[in-house]
Amino acid sequence: MKIPDSLRVGGVYYRILCNKDSDFELGHDLDGDFNEDKARIRLRSTVLPARLSEIFIHEIIHAVDCVYGAGQELTENQTIGLTHGLYQVLSDMGIGFTL
Ligand SMILES: [Zn+2]
Repeated sequence: MKIPDSLRVGGVYYRILCNKDSDFELGHDLDGDFNEDKARIRLRSTVLPARLSEIFIHEIIHAVDCVYGAGQELTENQTIGLTHGLYQVLSDMGIGFTL
């Protein structure tokens, strides 16, 4: 499945940026990030397809947690665990994300 330009989570639309500009903005240490205030997800465009799916799922979980988490924000480790689990389940069904 192609990564969309935007994503709706509840009543919030998040822009998804995955290009040379967002790669530059992410710097060297991050492959993706989620910004609640800017309603934005950035993904590194140069990673391998499997990694891109994993990053996208990870940032979706942050967005869903932000909107539906009822103030009980997941820790980064919990988010990583959910990412690995959801990535495995979706991959087994042949669901992945591409540019
Ligand atoms: Zn994270």
